[in-house]
Amino acid sequence: MQNTVQQLDDNDPLAHKRNAFVLPENMIYLDGNSLGALTRRSSERVQEVVRQQWGQDLIGGWNLHDWINLPQLTGEKIAPLLGAKSGQVIVCDSISVNLFKLLTTALSMQPGRVRVLSEQGNFPTDLYMVQGVQTLLGEQRCELRSVASEQLEQEFTEDVAVLLLTHVNFRSGHIHDMQRLTRLAHEKGILVIWDLAHSAGAVPLTLDLCKVDFAVGCGYKYLNGGPGAPAFIYAAEKHHSAVQQPLSGWMGHANPFAFTEDYQPALGIKQFLTGTPSILALAALDAALDVFADVDMHQLRDKSITMTEVFLALKDQHAELSELQLISPMDSQCRGSQLSFSHPQAYAICQALITKGVVPDFRAPDIIRFGFAPLYLSFANIQQAIEVLCSIMQEQSFLQSRFQQKRAVT
Ligand SMILES: *Cc1c(COP(=O)(O)O)cnc(C)c1O
Repeated sequence: MQNTVQQLDDNDPLAHKRNAFVLPENMIYLDGNSLGALTRRSSERVQEVVRQQWGQDLIGGWNLHDWINLPQLTGEKIAPLLGAKSGQVIVCDSISVNLFKLLTTALSMQPGRVRVLSEQGNFPTDLYMVQGVQTLLGEQRCELRSVASEQLEQEFTEDVAVLLLTHVNFRSGHIHDMQRLTRLAHEKGILVIWDLAHSAGAVPLTLDLCKVDFAVGCGYKYLNGGPGAPAFIYAAEKHHSAVQQPLSGWMGHANPFAFTEDYQPALGIKQFLTGTPSILALAALDAALDVFADVDMHQLRDKSITMTEVFLALKDQHAELSELQLISPMDSQCRGSQLSFSHPQAYAICQALITKGVVPDFRAPDIIRFGFAPLYLSFANIQQAIEVLCSIMQEQSFLQSRFQQKRAVT
């Protein structure tokens, strides 16, 4: 395997991309699916925006540096990663807030239908946001139904207004068949919203081809936009004139600087904006996206798949790792860029790994999640991570009490 790992690194067409990132020397970072690494471009850009643009140009920056159009310009950089043609993606707010906009909009497009169908085990905020809309509008206008994954398709009926699904499951990494589910939902007149938090920048996407209605996604995971980076919204062009989202702030107005009394939505994707964008955060994300400009997403996906396969092959060579139960799909085509394992001591193992410079994350109740960001990880990193994991499992060092203390963010 030593040889193979070396060969894989030697033949890796994305190996040079690691130089685009600032990474600590003695760390193997397997948590790019929670918070992507810092790019050199973001670091430089944020300093420039702070020192020059804000520091020297002050209010003039909105025009001089086109801050005002940054939500759209950054959206245009994300669009190719989603398989979306121009004019359908915009960067703003968080996924949660954007889900509110899309859920209420989609419900208003479906008179006579009230059900929002989702899945058990979906990322909590997705379900929480539907619950909030249900409380706001009342059950006669919005009714959440979440069912087990296997039961989804039989729930596609003409009572359902909206199907809300996360493409790559945050716990297991399981990938839904976007094209098939979107098509089946459409056959029953259901509008579809996809959450792409663990997909964008990790797996190739074809939103236009799949005729997806709406989507949301995350700026701070695989897109490396920085802690709390703004999220994005995709809205298919065909819906632009049919919708009106309720967070009708001035930035989504047709002409914000006319300061008229009555709200009139902008045409196109801009209508999904609400308030003033955070330019520092947007600039960091915008710069980070330049790293993707020349990346072939199929090549990235190939590397991601090989990485997870190498991790599992190495794991299988070590009996001391057999207690870690894979909960991600065995078939690499059916999982995103992560591997999740359950273990009763998952939290402590995770903490012990972190002190040894290998950084995965823990997801309650008993899951260790390893994320593989192909732009900045090498195959040698995977091998080193397995070696560290082996030593921890062998020595049972995770049983020390200092590794049992839970902190606020896991
Ligand atoms: C990370 C993540 C989010 C984050 O939502 P925010 O409101 O942007 O914090 C939402 N959905 C999924 C599936 C996620 O993994």
